[in-house]
Amino acid sequence: MTSPTQVRTRFAPSPSGTLHLGNVRTALFAWAYARKHNGKFILRIEDTDQARSSDESAAGIVRDMKWLGLDFDEGPFFQMQRLDRYKAVVAEMLEKGLAYRCYMSETELDALRETQKANGDKPRYDGRWRPERGLTPPDGVKPVIRFRNPDGGSVVWDDAVKGRIEISNDELDDLVIARPDGTPTYNFCVVVDDVDMAITHVVRGDGHVGNTPRQINIFKALDAAVPLFAHLPTVLGSDGEKLSKRHGATGLNEYADNGYLPAAVINGLARMGFAHGNDEVFTPTQLVEWFDLNAINPAPARFDTQKFEWIAGEHMKRVPSAQLSALVKPFLAVSPRDEVQLTAACELYRDRCTTVKAVAEQIGYFFATPEISGTAREAHLSAAAQPALDAAITSLNAIPAWSKAEISAALKSVQTQLGLKPPQLMMPIRVAVSGGTSTPSVDATLEVLGKAETLARLTRALG
Ligand code: GLU
Repeated sequence: MTSPTQVRTRFAPSPSGTLHLGNVRTALFAWAYARKHNGKFILRIEDTDQARSSDESAAGIVRDMKWLGLDFDEGPFFQMQRLDRYKAVVAEMLEKGLAYRCYMSETELDALRETQKANGDKPRYDGRWRPERGLTPPDGVKPVIRFRNPDGGSVVWDDAVKGRIEISNDELDDLVIARPDGTPTYNFCVVVDDVDMAITHVVRGDGHVGNTPRQINIFKALDAAVPLFAHLPTVLGSDGEKLSKRHGATGLNEYADNGYLPAAVINGLARMGFAHGNDEVFTPTQLVEWFDLNAINPAPARFDTQKFEWIAGEHMKRVPSAQLSALVKPFLAVSPRDEVQLTAACELYRDRCTTVKAVAEQIGYFFATPEISGTAREAHLSAAAQPALDAAITSLNAIPAWSKAEISAALKSVQTQLGLKPPQLMMPIRVAVSGGTSTPSVDATLEVLGKAETLARLTRALG
């Protein structure tokens, strides 16, 4: 049951590509508002532009929203499956005199526009087919259906983001709501849907501000409650230009594929226009708790890749251990046999990474013997390093209970014995066990790798 006070928001993407960051932020704010008020969040796919819509894109939208955790309570609804409903509303409006048939041809319309422009007027349909003008329909012409826009007065709404907006009805002509072939038009479908879906808050990009007064007039004509509108400012790149590929990844799927944490993406998206004091890092739950449409900054938001990376890193530090290893696992080239070891390896690397994919790439050597590059071998595993490795093997082999502290002590004694500087011992070990020159502290790394594997790799490096 829908109680009249229940908040109901919707996200209404057109399935003509992948979800990009600007769109997802719209979805996020609509979702957060619904969740904050224990309301409902609805997904509606606006697929009436058949030439540009695809099932694949719609499926991708659903998949990406699920990945991000923007769960919807109703839908996805597809506008193409609601055509009968729109047609029924058009018929009802004709019946009630809220709409009428207009037989004006394109040529006549063009001529009218030209005259208006020549007179310095704004081009607009002049209402000549309003029934009271008494024109007789020509034979064989299929009419469009126009909404009878109110005469005089103005449309006013208090936009949650932009404040009060007032548009004179004189600016609005009678909108075409159905084409000659009967297909309904965009602005009309949106209103029928928002009425039928009992939407209380329309959160969308500010590219739609121009549609809103027309839509409000249709809401009123249908005797429906007008929702509250929140038009979100555009998302720009950090250089103030319209966000595009040039600024890095702009598709949500790229963030999923690159292994960013959904919570980090939510945080980064929310910070484009929403702030809570000085809190830069917050969880989706905190966002829901703090969120308000009135708190959205009306100035265009900027997407700053560097700042986003920082936020992503902060989330990597905070994600619970078990969750982290579960998220890393699908990105691993070789699946680990030992879950405890996987968790420990993830813990070692989480502070150094901004994505779970990066963790997976870094910890791969724990689960499969790494390749050692020629250059690393030459630099760190030359004959000069052999006595150090030899002594390390002996010393490590003698450790009864394999632990970071014991490993550290054993390696210190080797250093003292042979009079080595730390890198003279640590770098050969790093290269021998990981194939690379940069690992977390050697004692911690070897502890996670395990005694048998450590000794095997050091021995192999000696050979
Ligand atoms: N389908 C529109 C878009 O993708 C959204 C319309 C709306 O939210 O009212 O921009």
